Amino acid sequence: MILGLAMFAAGLLSWTLLEYAVHGWMGHIYNTFVTPIHAVHHRDPRAVFAIGTWLPAALVAVILPVAFGFGSIAVFYIGLLSGFAAYEVIHYRIHFSARLTGIETQLRAHHLVHHLRRPKMCLGVTTSFWDRLFGTDPGRLEAAALHASVKGVPPLDGPSNLGSLIAALGSARRAS
Ligand SMILES: [Zn+2]
Ligand SMILES: [Zn+2]
Repeated sequence: MILGLAMFAAGLLSWTLLEYAVHGWMGHIYNTFVTPIHAVHHRDPRAVFAIGTWLPAALVAVILPVAFGFGSIAVFYIGLLSGFAAYEVIHYRIHFSARLTGIETQLRAHHLVHHLRRPKMCLGVTTSFWDRLFGTDPGRLEAAALHASVKGVPPLDGPSNLGSLIAALGSARRAS
């Protein structure tokens, strides 16, 4: 039980580093296959969900217990996936929600600085921990000014890419 909880927590925490690595290093710092995919979100922040990742992520969740049994590796991966799910919710709320918790308000300022002021900085979405560790967090004084400069940015309206997809599927079903 303790091992299971530890593996789940390890998976959850590992997500935050994976998020930083994929978004920061593979999306922004280096030019990789992630860069053009992620650029879509910067051009249109309503494309907020990483929908293309859900199917492969779910496939791995099915394959892992088959290959290794439902042990530590599977529990670790469930933790990792939970981190991914939390990221999707938090990232959506950061862009769209007018009612945020205190932590979300901080994360929103951090993320909007990334979108609108310093695209090579503030690369973590669910935490600024890795930014501070890897030197991509603006210093405290500059961060305060930057956060203040994005404070008035209104939440997005209109549908997200998931909302648009659901609407498109609905109208396709009605047409058939
Ligand atoms: Zn970005
Ligand atoms: Zn964003």
